[in-house]
Amino acid sequence: MYYGFDVGGTKIEFGAFDEKLERQATERVPTPGDDYQKLIEILAELVAKYDEQFYCEGTVGIGIPGIEKAEDGTVLTVNVPAAKGQTLRADLEAKIGRKVALNNDANCFALSEAWDEELQDESVVLGLILGTGFGGGIVIDGSVVSGKNNVAGELGHIRMPIDAWLQLGDNAPIFDCGCEKKGCIDNYLSGRGFEMLYTHFNGENKKAIEIITAFYDGEETATKFVDNYLEMLAMVFGGLFTGIDPDVVVLGGGLSNFEHIYEEMPKRVPKYLLSIANPPKIIKAKHGDSGGVRGAAFLNIKR
Ligand SMILES: [Zn+2]
Repeated sequence: MYYGFDVGGTKIEFGAFDEKLERQATERVPTPGDDYQKLIEILAELVAKYDEQFYCEGTVGIGIPGIEKAEDGTVLTVNVPAAKGQTLRADLEAKIGRKVALNNDANCFALSEAWDEELQDESVVLGLILGTGFGGGIVIDGSVVSGKNNVAGELGHIRMPIDAWLQLGDNAPIFDCGCEKKGCIDNYLSGRGFEMLYTHFNGENKKAIEIITAFYDGEETATKFVDNYLEMLAMVFGGLFTGIDPDVVVLGGGLSNFEHIYEEMPKRVPKYLLSIANPPKIIKAKHGDSGGVRGAAFLNIKR
């Protein structure tokens, strides 16, 4: 059995998956505020409970909105206070006496999609989340690429390219990013960025869904705004695809439900690629909210 934990700010989701990667158990428990010992206990108890239920010793993977620092194994996270600054992986390993894999939730999302039945044979799968933030995860031959510092795939913190700045025009907003830099694509192309840009240019606060509805109604301001956004998205995709050259790109997060993206990217992206490159397939994520727990469990699968 492959066990996965999706550790979030308010709840922990557990999932157990069999050899066919089908889910055999699900359990959700609240995340214990900032009580680290309690967090370790909860995880260890769930592992013991399902070991007993399935008469096995399952492998354990954890997905968390944060990054494990490469040099000392402490977790950098703002959303899960209980795990903040703690050596979660090592401490759980000591408690349950087996290896534990840990990775960030965007990488788990990408891994979950990469192990979908239809994508299992693809070599390079790029997961992109257009949600509150702009997240990314790179999966090569069924394994997450974490890099030297565990920051591979943190694509939201690449700065906007020059052609996107030109597209934004003279009145381009320079948004500060949570990473303390300016101009990260996270603040322009995520669902939140989509709304911030709309407000900046049109002086009106609107939810992404309202902007999209107005776009489908043919409203002029929304149509112009969406056209600009999609062009900038294509510019950034062009850069990412040139660097990573994925076979398939899977989109998740709220904005990934905007179907027009899938119609427009194949038309708009090629002009931002090298002339010898063909654009990858761009598809919508299939596993939705269960991506985190699936990906966490699949951290322990090798092709
Ligand atoms: Zn940033």
